[in-house]
Amino acid sequence: MIKFPSFIDSHCHFLGCGYAKTLLKLDDVHSILDLQSLLKQHLDEPFILGRGWNQESLTEKRFITKQDLDEVSTTIPIVLIRTCGHVISVNSAMIHRMELKNTNLDETSSLENGIFVEDDIHLVYDLLPKPDINQLKKYLLIANDLYLSNGITSVASDDFCIFDIPYENVIKAILESYEENLIQVQITEQVNLPNIEVFKDFIAKGYVNKNYGSFKMGPLKLLSDGSLGGRTAALRLPYNDDTNNSGIKTFTDEKLFELIHMADKEGMDVAIHAIGDAAMDQVINAIIKSLNITHRINHHHAIIHAQLANLDHIKVMKEFHIGAIVQPVFLNSDIPVINERIGERKAESYLFHTMYLNELCVGFSTDAPVENLNPFENIYVAMNRKSIKYPFLDQHLENEAFSLNEALECYLKNNIIYTYESKKPSSNYVMLDKNPYTIDDLSIKDIKILETWIDGICVYKK
Ligand SMILES: [Zn+2]
Repeated sequence: MIKFPSFIDSHCHFLGCGYAKTLLKLDDVHSILDLQSLLKQHLDEPFILGRGWNQESLTEKRFITKQDLDEVSTTIPIVLIRTCGHVISVNSAMIHRMELKNTNLDETSSLENGIFVEDDIHLVYDLLPKPDINQLKKYLLIANDLYLSNGITSVASDDFCIFDIPYENVIKAILESYEENLIQVQITEQVNLPNIEVFKDFIAKGYVNKNYGSFKMGPLKLLSDGSLGGRTAALRLPYNDDTNNSGIKTFTDEKLFELIHMADKEGMDVAIHAIGDAAMDQVINAIIKSLNITHRINHHHAIIHAQLANLDHIKVMKEFHIGAIVQPVFLNSDIPVINERIGERKAESYLFHTMYLNELCVGFSTDAPVENLNPFENIYVAMNRKSIKYPFLDQHLENEAFSLNEALECYLKNNIIYTYESKKPSSNYVMLDKNPYTIDDLSIKDIKILETWIDGICVYKK
């Protein structure tokens, strides 16, 4: 057994991971027919809720539609969330409940096909059963076990928008879970409050940067666009494989600036999801505009994902000390689609090592449940730039590969910054079955966590 520091994940959905565990798992579905036979085993349930499908893993290579799901049932509502969480397919029984007569849908959503994307997914989420505090605590407990078994003892996590419930219910559930010793993983909340009135309420109640010990309030988290896989990431030029579509910006420039500036002037950092190059432009401009007013220097503003950050973006990010919270493991699912989606533009995509060399504060994370939580799978992809799911496919920009030490710096040292942990050497550690420093690069993904220790107590044993 090898003693090793425990891991920090700088962007994930802790509560969402626990919740996702309770949903029907669609990750291993490889065709619409497979999916239909899986769903048919659940026709005794009043409501079928699944997560994890990805059209790239289906032989049909297309989104799941209402028609596919109506072949399973037209009376039991079926709601299937894509792996990215930005696209949802539903059947006609669900649409029937949604009363959409006067709703203007985004043009990428399709009522006819039962597909809802980005903001429109809330039309679906609003109708899902809402958990009470005890159910939230159950999900947190499930998540805690999952994280500890992956050697993760601290996270920056986006939990306020997993359900359509007041954010204070989530705070209450988390605090009670610590009090009752149900959870031990430390949580820095990435405060996802895109509604200006609700965010004002958060500020007025004194929650900004509030520290409860194991739980603290971190940066304002916003999503400025969607995902590359779902063709909802906001691009400067249209998608190569959908020439009428340049993706979706969630906010107008004005509204994004307003929210970012509200946080920035309170001394609160921001961590903004941006994937496409147009989203990168918009977010960087808004942060700079705010910094030009507040003149903050010791901020840790960051962009989450930054997949299509080009060399110019990286230069400006460096100048204004804007960090990058990135997910090398996204290449796991994205390698098969990068070329189709962006063609030539792929030469300046996923430039995570270039960011590192340009001295941006690069933090590694998984965005779980979007990708697997396992730090060694993430490190494997960072070091090898290869997909674990599609091992026969080529590397993506192999020059962008990290060394083990560099990858660990992003996972440990830099993520301390994004979780606002004290910089004292942590007494948290894991026991591994193999030594990452002596194993070959291709076997790194197979390293197993045998034990996880927090404050001298063994909290997980394999
Ligand atoms: Zn996320």
